[in-house]
Amino acid sequence: MRDISDRHKMQIMVHSKVALSKRPGFLGEFSFKDFAREQFFRRDIPNGEKFLSLVHTERHIRKVKKACEVKAHLAEMDLTPECYEIACLGVGTVILASEEGGFAIQCMTGHHAGRESAMGFNLFNSLAIAAQRLINQGKRVCIIDIDGHHGNGTQDIFYDTDQVLFCSIHQKDAFPGTGSEKEIGKGKGIGYTLNISLPKNSGDDVFIEALKKAIKKAVNFKPDIVGMYAGFDGYHADKLLELNYSLKGFYECGKIISQTFTQIFASLGGGYHQDLTKCIFAFVAGINQEEYPY
Ligand SMILES: [Zn+2]
Repeated sequence: MRDISDRHKMQIMVHSKVALSKRPGFLGEFSFKDFAREQFFRRDIPNGEKFLSLVHTERHIRKVKKACEVKAHLAEMDLTPECYEIACLGVGTVILASEEGGFAIQCMTGHHAGRESAMGFNLFNSLAIAAQRLINQGKRVCIIDIDGHHGNGTQDIFYDTDQVLFCSIHQKDAFPGTGSEKEIGKGKGIGYTLNISLPKNSGDDVFIEALKKAIKKAVNFKPDIVGMYAGFDGYHADKLLELNYSLKGFYECGKIISQTFTQIFASLGGGYHQDLTKCIFAFVAGINQEEYPY
């Protein structure tokens, strides 16, 4: 159980440039303007570029940088020169969140990006980068990915290691098509990947039941820190998925995680609907064991 004094409350953090940008991609109508407030702005976000090579190959980093410079189409996005900076700021925000137990707002989220691949609106895998940094500090890291899509990039990056427990709860047979329960890791990593794929219209009860299964596995792993990949495209109004979760479901999720683990940080994942801000607030209220805000 976490000690929820003000000092340990999960703070939402964002770089002002990210708050003033839009999500790229064909569903880019969502902007982060709700987070364009002093209370969320952080001026001490480290330059994420220097952490990229913890996970990604130099070839991938160069390719992404070039693609942004020449405004190429990559990972289902029409890139602009600003996208590289925005992506690096996202990585820096997740690094800061991992140090302070914060919730990092980022534009081009991350869990589909592999060591050498960009995919599904994701250029770099910021949560994997933060996790690798923690591993290098000697910590055991558990990643719980509640985004409604399978976190194939994160899974691939840590597939053969026993240093990270990766749990993903996602919609069965949705993009990117991976994430079957038979995918459990390889070599030393066998048993350190847990996939729970849910049918369409699962709703909150099925979601929470799946979460409890992941938590049980995570508790046995005895992590020093839990990184949540907090995607909210499982929400009932989402345009890409049909998992049918509610705000209350995300609140309960945060609460259960907070009641089980002491060191938690989170990185924003997907969410392609107009209630994304509410989803984030509901989740963070759960983590901070506050009253349900809606
Ligand atoms: Zn997603």
